[in-house]
Amino acid sequence: MTNNADKGLLIVLSGPSGVGKGTVCSMLRKLAPELVYSVSATTRSPRAGEVDGVNYFFKTKEQFRSMIERDELLEWAEYVGNYYGTPRSFVNDTIRAGKDIILEIEVQGAMKVKQKFPEGVFIFLMPPSLGELKNRIVTRGTETDDSIRSRMSVAVDEIKLLEHYDYAVVNDQVESACARIRSIITAEHCRRERI
Ligand code: 5GP
Repeated sequence: MTNNADKGLLIVLSGPSGVGKGTVCSMLRKLAPELVYSVSATTRSPRAGEVDGVNYFFKTKEQFRSMIERDELLEWAEYVGNYYGTPRSFVNDTIRAGKDIILEIEVQGAMKVKQKFPEGVFIFLMPPSLGELKNRIVTRGTETDDSIRSRMSVAVDEIKLLEHYDYAVVNDQVESACARIRSIITAEHCRRERI
């Protein structure tokens, strides 16, 4: 076995808001408890039921800016008026400990991670269609009309970046999307065994 195979995988699960990244991750947590999930920092307000330190680390803009200044974030992005970022040390420690970590992040951030970790596994979760994407955002009931419009317009731009990803997984059904993601992870481990 080589050093490469000893390290955990950095897996980026990305895709437009509303595509179901959160739902897919919740199911993956049950199906694949061996995977570690990165908790992001954000300046957006908590939604009902969200817990600080579990769903996100909720920060003020000032606190977020000082995290950037102290170089504590692996990547960060502004998304629909709020900042989101991945704490760096947790990701590095997890990979070094030989565990696989999943970052559930939007596309600009994913592209920044790709520059720093080209050996990462980049998975784009696709909606079955744009109409279905809008339907899912509306049904979730957490966004204002303005936020829905912004998220849809960002989604169209995000889908254009699909070619930079290693894999596309259509989220038609959560169970089958999870099964495909787990197959990708297995395949990537086998690939690293030969390097
Ligand atoms: P939401 O407000 O719906 O929780 O998240 C909005 C978007 O930000 C989603 O596409 C989500 O994946 C993304 N996001 C969450 N955490 C991070 C992060 O740490 N970095 C980046 N770049 N995007 C994130």
